[in-house]
Amino acid sequence: MRLSSPVLTRVFWSACVSACVLVFPVTTGAWGMDVHRLITERALDGMPTEIKSFFAVERAFITEHSVDPDLWRIMDLRGDRGEEPPNHFLDMDFEEGSKPPFLNIPREYDAYVQKYGAGPATRYGRLPWRAEEVYNRMLASFKDIAKPNMPFAADNARYALAVLAHYIEDAHVPFHAALNYDGQLTNQRGIHARFETELILRNQKVLKLAPVKAVVITGGFRDYMFKTLIDSQALVEGILAADLKAAEGREFYDDAYFDALLKGTRATAERRLSEAASAVASAALTAWTEAGKPALPGEGPRPPARIRR
Ligand SMILES: [Zn+2]
Repeated sequence: MRLSSPVLTRVFWSACVSACVLVFPVTTGAWGMDVHRLITERALDGMPTEIKSFFAVERAFITEHSVDPDLWRIMDLRGDRGEEPPNHFLDMDFEEGSKPPFLNIPREYDAYVQKYGAGPATRYGRLPWRAEEVYNRMLASFKDIAKPNMPFAADNARYALAVLAHYIEDAHVPFHAALNYDGQLTNQRGIHARFETELILRNQKVLKLAPVKAVVITGGFRDYMFKTLIDSQALVEGILAADLKAAEGREFYDDAYFDALLKGTRATAERRLSEAASAVASAALTAWTEAGKPALPGEGPRPPARIRR
C-alpha cells in the first residue's frame, strides 16, 4: 500500500468538462499501513498452535515490520530486480482482450520480461515473483533453525514473515491486480485509497472477519500468489460499480458516501481481509512444514546454558 493522506474530499465542477468530478488526492497504494498492521496482527493471533508462540514472542516487531516494503518504496530502496514499487502489484488484465486465468502472462519471471520487455514488465508489476523470493528466504531460515550455530535463524524467519505478510496482503487488494488500479481509466480516481484504506479504517469495528484458517499451500507459492491476484482482479468491477453508485449525485466523499460504499462492498472487504490474514498464517505454516517442521524456540530468548566444568 502506500501512504494515503488524510481524506480530503471535495468536488468541483470542472470548468472545461460539464461532468461533476469527485476529487481525491492522488494516493494509489494497497491497504493503508494501519490496515497492514491489522491484518498481520490478526494472522499472528490466528497461527496454528505448532508455530504460534514462535511468532507471538515477537508479535509487535512482526506487526510493525509488515509495513517495511512500503517504506522501501517511499525511500526508493532498490532490490536486484530494480525499483520497489512494482513488487507490490501485478496488473493481471494489462493485455487487451486477456481473460482469467490470464495465461498470457508467463509464470516464469524471465519469460515474462522476455515476452513484454523490461519496461512494460516493470510497469505492470512483479508481485508473485517478489513474494516467492521472500517466501524462499523464510523457508531457508526455518531450515537453518535446525542447524547448529545459526543463532539468527529464528529472527530471520520472523522478519521474513513480516515482509512476506506485506506482499501477501497487497495481493489480496483488488486494485493491486488491475490495470485500472485507481479508477483512473473510468473517471473514479482515488477509489484505491477510498476502498482499501478509508473504508476499512472507518469501519474497522463493524467489519466481521472470518476466523483465521491456516492450511498448507500446495502447488507452489508463486502459483498461489497468481491465484490470489486472479481472485483480486475479479473483484475490481464490483467495487467500481459500487463506487459509481455511492458517488452518484454527491459533491463530497463524505460519511454518506462511505456508508453507501460500505453497503456495496462490505462482503468483498470482509472476505479479502479475512483471506489475507489466513494466507499469511498459511504461508508461515507451509514454510515451516516444507522445512521439515524444525523444533522452534518458543517463549522468548532462551537463558544462556550453564557451563559445567
Ligand atoms: Zn504495498
